[in-house]
Amino acid sequence: MKPREFDPRRLDIERFAAEGGALEGDWPLAGMQRLCDACHVAPGADAADRVRWSAGGEQRRRAGQAAQAWLHLTLDAKVDLTCQRCLSAVTVGLVVDRWFRFVDGEERAAALDAESEDDVLASSRTFDLHELAEDELLLALPLVPRHEVCPQPLAAPIGAGDPHDDPGPAESPFAALAALKRMPH
Ligand SMILES: [Zn+2]
Repeated sequence: MKPREFDPRRLDIERFAAEGGALEGDWPLAGMQRLCDACHVAPGADAADRVRWSAGGEQRRRAGQAAQAWLHLTLDAKVDLTCQRCLSAVTVGLVVDRWFRFVDGEERAAALDAESEDDVLASSRTFDLHELAEDELLLALPLVPRHEVCPQPLAAPIGAGDPHDDPGPAESPFAALAALKRMPH
């Protein structure tokens, strides 16, 4: 088997589908600028700040029609977003598992994408999987990221003082609820 037979940054979609191609790997989050812009802090270069991805090609035939190229894309990443309740970092897992159908021409793809339930993209001989992956991760971001339970006390440095020595009032769950209700929807 020839290694690197398909280039994920310049993928020949029709051939990938016809040959039932399969690719996988990981990409640094730091290389996805639009995604980084949405993060609480810029992702670093370590192994945790990477997107695991896989792609599979498949050709499907329907009676009386030309073979269609399909692509199966899976993504798995963790990003630090800004909690909209306490404004500190909250780690959010992003998981994508989607199929895409490819047709000739941007206009036809856009029309079919709008009218059918399939996700339809324009076929290409130099398709950039990395860009599609970033698009999909952006779509997978939660609209209002927040902790299930925000760290307490808010904005205090870790290890500063023993909470048992602090006679200050604990924040009631109702205060958190009120804060939630004040948030714009
Ligand atoms: Zn929070």
